[in-house]
Amino acid sequence: MKQLRSNVIRAGLEALYFTGAHHLFRPIFAGVGSIFMLHQVRPQRDAPFQPNCHLEVTPQFLRAVLTHLRSRGIDIVTMDEMHRRLTERDFARRFACFTFDDGYRDNRDFALPVMREFDAPFTVYVASDFAQGGGNLWWIALEMVIAKASRIEASIDGVATRFDTSTLAAKHAAFERLHDWLRALPGRDDLAREIKALCGRYGIDQAAICGESCMSWDELKPFAGEPLVGIGAHSITHCNLAQQPDEIASQEMATSRARIENALQLPALHFAYPYGDKGAAGRREFALAKAAGFKTAVTTRPGMVFPESAEYPTALPRVSLNGNYQDERLLPVLTSGAATAVWNGFRRIDAA
Ligand SMILES: [Zn+2]
Repeated sequence: MKQLRSNVIRAGLEALYFTGAHHLFRPIFAGVGSIFMLHQVRPQRDAPFQPNCHLEVTPQFLRAVLTHLRSRGIDIVTMDEMHRRLTERDFARRFACFTFDDGYRDNRDFALPVMREFDAPFTVYVASDFAQGGGNLWWIALEMVIAKASRIEASIDGVATRFDTSTLAAKHAAFERLHDWLRALPGRDDLAREIKALCGRYGIDQAAICGESCMSWDELKPFAGEPLVGIGAHSITHCNLAQQPDEIASQEMATSRARIENALQLPALHFAYPYGDKGAAGRREFALAKAAGFKTAVTTRPGMVFPESAEYPTALPRVSLNGNYQDERLLPVLTSGAATAVWNGFRRIDAA
């Protein structure tokens, strides 16, 4: 199903490209700028089973995006500068922001050198448990469990369910089913408990994943001191905030900000909602982010930034640089706003 959706999106992007329709969209739907969303940046890996590969792009692709933006004369700016332009309605020049979620070490090792080539600032949203070393990167743990096992048993809603994971196709099907199940679990602790049980049963060292993937506070300190780097908050536990009661959701926001400010001695005035889709960030979360004092907060809802986005600084959409579509030809489609306009049914703002 995910593969199908991915193929449909690719076909849509290519149709826009080949028909040239994105040129027609640009004046109306390109907005005043865009906020790009990335996660990991690293060279292509050989492993056949990479169900999370939509969450990573290669340094070469990142370079191609930056080259494209520079060739169009688009300013690459910090989130602070984007916020200033929005509030002062300074839209003389188009802008783009680069944001990276979770705090992966490869952001330092592979993204930073490329961003330096273009003197391009960027923001990394750190989930404080990930920097602490005890975070739950359950989607990576699930990938490792399924890559290793040839069959898996899990108790889904109290029913023992078996999954064949002996072939690549079966592994993808099992990943999709288990991923959707885990994401839908309600409490903050339910997901942690289930993924811990799976890792225990199939011999995956879950505790090591966080330290292997994410920067620690000690690493973040010099990284945050880099002139091009800004650090934002991304909750404490990386939970689905919309599923939490008010006090936990606001504590996840306020405390994650305080931890960053304590550890790095820098203000953290920008926030990214974990998961960030409609099921994870809605009106209540937008209000809580504002109450927690964040200047901006970004979702994963697809969209460009429009002048009217100034009224919704804690409900900003982003443009995903998705690892499944690392095709330089499609970059003009992405920056034209055509793809996100189609996705949004031609509405410019979606902040409800
Ligand atoms: Zn995240």
